[in-house]
Amino acid sequence: MIDMMLTAEPALRLGTFLILFTLCALLEAYFPRRDREQPRKARWWGNLSLSAFNTLLLRLLLPLSATEFALYCADQHWGLLNLLNWWHGLEILVAIVIMDLIIYAQHVLFHHNALLWRLHRVHHTDIDLDVTSAARFHPIEIGLSMLIKFSAIALLGISPVAVILFEVILNGMAMFNHSNLRLPLAIDAILRNMIVTPDFHRVHHSINPKETNSNYGFNLSVWDRIFQTYRPQPVQGHDHMILGLEQHRETQKTSLKALLIQPFRAE
Ligand SMILES: [Zn+2]
Ligand SMILES: [Zn+2]
Repeated sequence: MIDMMLTAEPALRLGTFLILFTLCALLEAYFPRRDREQPRKARWWGNLSLSAFNTLLLRLLLPLSATEFALYCADQHWGLLNLLNWWHGLEILVAIVIMDLIIYAQHVLFHHNALLWRLHRVHHTDIDLDVTSAARFHPIEIGLSMLIKFSAIALLGISPVAVILFEVILNGMAMFNHSNLRLPLAIDAILRNMIVTPDFHRVHHSINPKETNSNYGFNLSVWDRIFQTYRPQPVQGHDHMILGLEQHRETQKTSLKALLIQPFRAE
């Protein structure tokens, strides 16, 4: 079963990525929430080439994937969940919720540490927000979050199935909540009780620092409510709010090279 999942993982991940990417791109094209500041072409090329670059780099540098590492930890009986003999379904659910809390905490950390913020701000310098913004992360930030993920897998004994499911859910949710999608307000209100919606996450990309430092959640909206980092709506409203960062308004700096060197540039 596990062998089958490991073999199927690349196809599963690529397949869900392509299906959800196309769906979000079509939906945001037909039901846009905001007008774009910049033509799609330049941003899409930069964001998607950064994502492809990150995938290749990770393949080349990491000797094993998160799922293979989880399998190794399970064989060694490492980690809390590998010591408790819970029903597998419950174990998977608990692992996914804990991993979501960990990436919430990691996101807060990347905003509050000056060096880490230099890496994470690459994600925040996008002056529009759409499905491709979900892929706009600097490779060093991706590498550090892999390190955190590997530590969580070893300490908590997260099963390979939970790792695969979490990765698929996280990637799918990131594309959904970054998309420039106008969801009916009543539906948004129901969904955001549980999950992070596009309107929920857009507040986090506001140029207003108080709003940037809120709504850190990726999947579940509960963490922002518990830790009081939740802001329901942007002060200027979704139509008029400005996205991105004050010091980074250059529309021409969207190439792969510009995104890669951005953390090493002065403010
Ligand atoms: Zn952020
Ligand atoms: Zn974001």
